[in-house]
Amino acid sequence: MTWLLPRLLQALGATLLGFVVGVAVHSATGLGGLGLGVGVVSGVGLLLLVDAVRGYRLLSWLRGNQQDSAPRDTGLWGELAYRVERAMRDRDHAVARGRLELEQFLSAIEASPNGVLMLDAQEHILWCNRSAADHFSLDPKRDLQQRITNLVRAPAFVAYLQAGRFAEPLVLGNSRGPGTLSIIVREYGEGQRLVLSLDITERLRAEAMRRDFVANVSHEIRTPLTVLSGFIETLHALPLTTVERDRVLVLMGQQTQRMQSLVADLLTLAQLEGSPRPAPDRWVSLDAMLLRVAADAEALSAGRHPLRIKLQTGVELAGVESELHSAIANLVTNAVRYTPTGGEIEASWRLFDDGSGEISIIDTGPGIAREHLPRLTERFYRVDGSRARETGGTGLGLSIVKHVMQRHGGELMIQSEVGKGSRFRLVFPAARVRHASDSALGDEAAFGGAALSNH
Ligand code: ADP
Repeated sequence: MTWLLPRLLQALGATLLGFVVGVAVHSATGLGGLGLGVGVVSGVGLLLLVDAVRGYRLLSWLRGNQQDSAPRDTGLWGELAYRVERAMRDRDHAVARGRLELEQFLSAIEASPNGVLMLDAQEHILWCNRSAADHFSLDPKRDLQQRITNLVRAPAFVAYLQAGRFAEPLVLGNSRGPGTLSIIVREYGEGQRLVLSLDITERLRAEAMRRDFVANVSHEIRTPLTVLSGFIETLHALPLTTVERDRVLVLMGQQTQRMQSLVADLLTLAQLEGSPRPAPDRWVSLDAMLLRVAADAEALSAGRHPLRIKLQTGVELAGVESELHSAIANLVTNAVRYTPTGGEIEASWRLFDDGSGEISIIDTGPGIAREHLPRLTERFYRVDGSRARETGGTGLGLSIVKHVMQRHGGELMIQSEVGKGSRFRLVFPAARVRHASDSALGDEAAFGGAALSNH
C-alpha cells in the first residue's frame, strides 16, 4: 500500500489547488458558483493530467522493447511500473534459464555416440543429433521438418516405421557404407517418436571373429584327431610288422605334437590378452635370449642352413622375458622352417640415434607375396596352408609376436619379396631399451617366468 499515501497527497494537492483557484475566481468575479466550478475543474483536471502523463510514460515503455528500466514515478503508477517490470524480468530470467538447460541437455545428447532423432506424428524430423545425422546421412539443419521417409528410403526402415510395432529393434545396413545399424523406436507425447540408432558394425565384426576363431580352432584340432583315430583303428584291425608299427607310432607322435603346439599357442594368446601390460622397469638381457634362440635354431636347422645370430649386443630390454623370448624365437624358427636347405638366416640388433632399437631376422627363403603381408598376423592365417602345417606351424606364431610387441609398446614390421626372402623386424621404443653397462644393478627378476611356446 506504499502507493496510497502519495495518492492521497496528490489528491490533497489537487484539492488545495482547486480551492485556491476557486477562491481567486470568486474574489475576482464575486460569483460563488463560478469559483466553485472552476476550483473543482482545475483540481480534477490536475489529477487527470498527472495520471495521463504517467500512464502515457508507462504505456510507451511497455510498447517499446523494455531494454531500459520502467519509469520511476511515485505512487500508483510507479508501483504499477515496478511490478510489471519485475514480472517481466522474472519471466525473462526463467526463459533464459530454461533455454540454457535445454541447450545443455541437447549438447549432452549431441555428445552421445548413439543417434537420437525426434519425429512428430507425421514423421517430420523435429530434431536430431550428429550421430543420427551420420547414421542416416542427414543434414541436422537443412533436413529439419522434412519427412524422414523421404530422406531415408531403405524399404526395411520405412516398413518398420509404418508398421508401428517397435518391440524388437530393427537391424539395418548403413546407407553410407558397409556398416550396420540397430534402430529402436519409442513413442511419446501425442504421436511423436524417438528414433535411437546404434552403429553395431564393430560388435558384429567381433562376434564374427569369435565365431571364426572357434570354427578354426575346432578345425585345427579335428584334423590331427581324425588322423590319430585312423591310426588307432589301423593298429587294432591290421596285423602290422614291427617296422610298419614303428612308422605309425612316429606319425601318431607328430600329430600329438601338433595338437600340443596348438594348445600351447592358444594358451599363450589367452595369457597375453588377459594379463596386464609388462612393467617398463624389469630389464632382461637380450644376449641371454639370443643365446637360447640360437641353440634352438641350430637344433631345428640341423646344419641345413648357415645361421648368423649376432650374440653380443650388450643390450637390455624392458619387459617380460618369456614373452620377448617367444617373439624372437617364433621369428627365427619360422625363418628356419620356411627357408629351404642352404638358405641363409641372420638375426641382429640395431640401435638408432633416438634410443629406440630393433631386432631384425632376415632369411633368403621363398618370401611372401605382397597381398598376404597385411593378413600375416591374423590368427590361423597361412600363405600356403598345407606347407605351413607340414613344417609344424599352428598359424598363430605371428599373431603371438604382434601381441607381444604391442604389449611392449613396440611394433612388428614385415618386408618380403617372393623368391628373395623376408625380413621381420621387432622395433622397441627408446623407453624399453638400455645398454647393459647403464644398469647399476643386475635384474634377477627378469629371468624368471615360464618359457612360452615357440613351436
Ligand atoms: P605358422 O605357424 O603357420 O608358421 P605364423 O603365424 O608363424 O604361422 O606365420 C604365418 C604364415 O606366414 C606362415 O604360414 C607362412 O606362410 C608365412 N611365413 C612366416 N614366416 C615366414 C618366412 N620366414 N618365410 C616365408 N613365409 C613365412
